[in-house]
Amino acid sequence: MRLFPCDRYRLPLPEGHRFPIDKYPLLRRRLEAHAAAGAALEFIEPHAATDDELRRVHAADYLGRVMAGTLSRDEVRRIGFPWSRALVERSLRSTGAAVDAAAAALEDGVAASLAGGTHHAGTDWGEGYCVFNDTAVAAREMQARGAVERVLILDCDVHQGNGTAEIFANDPTVFTMSIHGARNFPLRKVPGSLDVPLEDGTGDDAYLRSLAPAVAESFTRARADLVLYIAGADPYEGDRLGRLRLTKAGLLARDRLVLDAARAAGTPLAIVCGGGYCQDLEAIVDIHAATMLLAAGVIPGRGTAAP
Ligand SMILES: [Zn+2]
Repeated sequence: MRLFPCDRYRLPLPEGHRFPIDKYPLLRRRLEAHAAAGAALEFIEPHAATDDELRRVHAADYLGRVMAGTLSRDEVRRIGFPWSRALVERSLRSTGAAVDAAAAALEDGVAASLAGGTHHAGTDWGEGYCVFNDTAVAAREMQARGAVERVLILDCDVHQGNGTAEIFANDPTVFTMSIHGARNFPLRKVPGSLDVPLEDGTGDDAYLRSLAPAVAESFTRARADLVLYIAGADPYEGDRLGRLRLTKAGLLARDRLVLDAARAAGTPLAIVCGGGYCQDLEAIVDIHAATMLLAAGVIPGRGTAAP
């Protein structure tokens, strides 16, 4: 399984910034250890998203301000990261990683970006640690290459995929499903093709009972040639921003449900990480690593013994 890491494009964050940027190198190292022990994982440097790729989703004037460092103070505050050249490079690479993972999934059946899930970025804005919308760019790029006609974006980050919903609001070729905390960020949700809002404190069983029919409905209605799966670690009970109560086992069951649905439909699936804001970085790494190892067949799928 091909994996596209971006952790060498580091963000210089101010002291005390609450974004846990160190989770990314830890995740890569954890998966490299599995590869060294025999897991069929391949690590490939992603390309930097090109101007052509970005322009299929984002407004030229917004892109120009990001590249030139001329975003307004409010725009920078909304993104939540201080502007720097390194932020631009990192954002281009993590968007490129989603494009590369989508292309690899179409060849291999499954692949993943070890970053991204930047679903709060809309046509002409960045927000909530998202500068460019990686899955939106990947969807449009695969369409532009003629590799797919229809795409399904399954967003299981705990926050609503408002940017993705806005981008594809008038595009019937991309189906956007978001299952998220109803009272969580962003305050103003943008309706997608299918939204599943959940109450604070929702646990494993109720979550999975809501997810299963939503995934089934998404596959039926999307008739997609490619699935992009945002496997956020932030529905986890230990997350500082999540407010749902999913356990690691519940999150793995979520991943199984999504992967099984894609396999049953015979639809290639590319994974991006999504959020994760637990103080305990190892817990975030456990969750993302389990998603990747399940997809790679290292952790057994349905019908086999639990790991
Ligand atoms: Zn999130």
